[in-house]
Amino acid sequence: MRPPRPEAGQHTPAREAPGRDAGRDAPAQRASGRGLHVLVLGGTTEARALAAALDPRPGTRVTTSLAGRVTAPAALPGAVRVGGFGGPGGLAEWLRAHEVDALVDATHPFAGTMSGHAASAAARTGTPLLVLRRPGWREQPGDRWEWVDSAEEAARRLSAYGPRALLTTGRGSLAAFAAIDTHHFLVRAVEEPRPPTPRHLEVLLDRGPYTLEAERALLREHRVDVLVTKDSGGTATAAKLTAARERGLPVLIVRRPAPPAGVPVTHDVPQTLEQLARIIRPTRPAAGEWTAGST
Ligand code: NAP
Repeated sequence: MRPPRPEAGQHTPAREAPGRDAGRDAPAQRASGRGLHVLVLGGTTEARALAAALDPRPGTRVTTSLAGRVTAPAALPGAVRVGGFGGPGGLAEWLRAHEVDALVDATHPFAGTMSGHAASAAARTGTPLLVLRRPGWREQPGDRWEWVDSAEEAARRLSAYGPRALLTTGRGSLAAFAAIDTHHFLVRAVEEPRPPTPRHLEVLLDRGPYTLEAERALLREHRVDVLVTKDSGGTATAAKLTAARERGLPVLIVRRPAPPAGVPVTHDVPQTLEQLARIIRPTRPAAGEWTAGST
């Protein structure tokens, strides 16, 4: 990995991730042709893989934006900025100020607010936008899934199931279950949940990936009756679904919000690079040599 390049100016209360060179404007680079600047809205494995694929390309600068939810995020290839933009207007301003040529929304499938803001800011500034979303999970024979539209709906449906629930919908969704007194909640989250939380609560601080072996043991040892999760997709946290299928356990699964209308959606890094090459060429003819395969 090459050393981090200077970023084109600080903006907003956002901060740079530790260990990265926040940098100031880079006029020399500008004057000699500044290269393509891709802003990746991150916080996912896919965003990290995309930054790793873009960073070594000559003439390409990648900045990953993190919300700042995780206390000590792992280092990322390319430049990193941390913190909200202050709504779609703030993001639009950032795109202009940092001369972003393409925006990739590689946030988590459930980060619906950020995805809406990205679509709005891209439209305001004319910045090409792609959504990189890992595919959702698919039901298999033997699964006992009930699809719901929100954590609130999952909470309403819970009374139909046994009293011990494993909840993996994220600590932000706990408020939806806070009023439920009839169930014991085993909550698995990356960081300690904040109130309001359900009364009968046990927290497991952990971060994937999880093995099938470990998930089987978890369901067995905690005598879980029902799994409540969201359709995050991907392999890192899928083993719980296999373990639930094996035990014949019901799963309440929250549907993803739809991606913003009219925005091209890719499902992996190679597809994203192909689409980027396609959308960047008309706006930056000088970048004609920037192809999906070039590094
Ligand atoms: P959200 O509800 O869609 O966004 C709430 C606000 O957080 C946004 O309006 C934005 O603030 C800020 N934000 C979100 N993602 C950002 C990013 N990549 N860079 C800068 N600001 C960002 O998002 P969320 O569900 O809380 O997720 C926050 C982050 O955690 C995302 O990066 C996401 O990829 C990651 N994540 C989320 C989940 C999940 O289940 N939701 C799971 C794993 C990882 P401003 O309006 O001020 O710009």
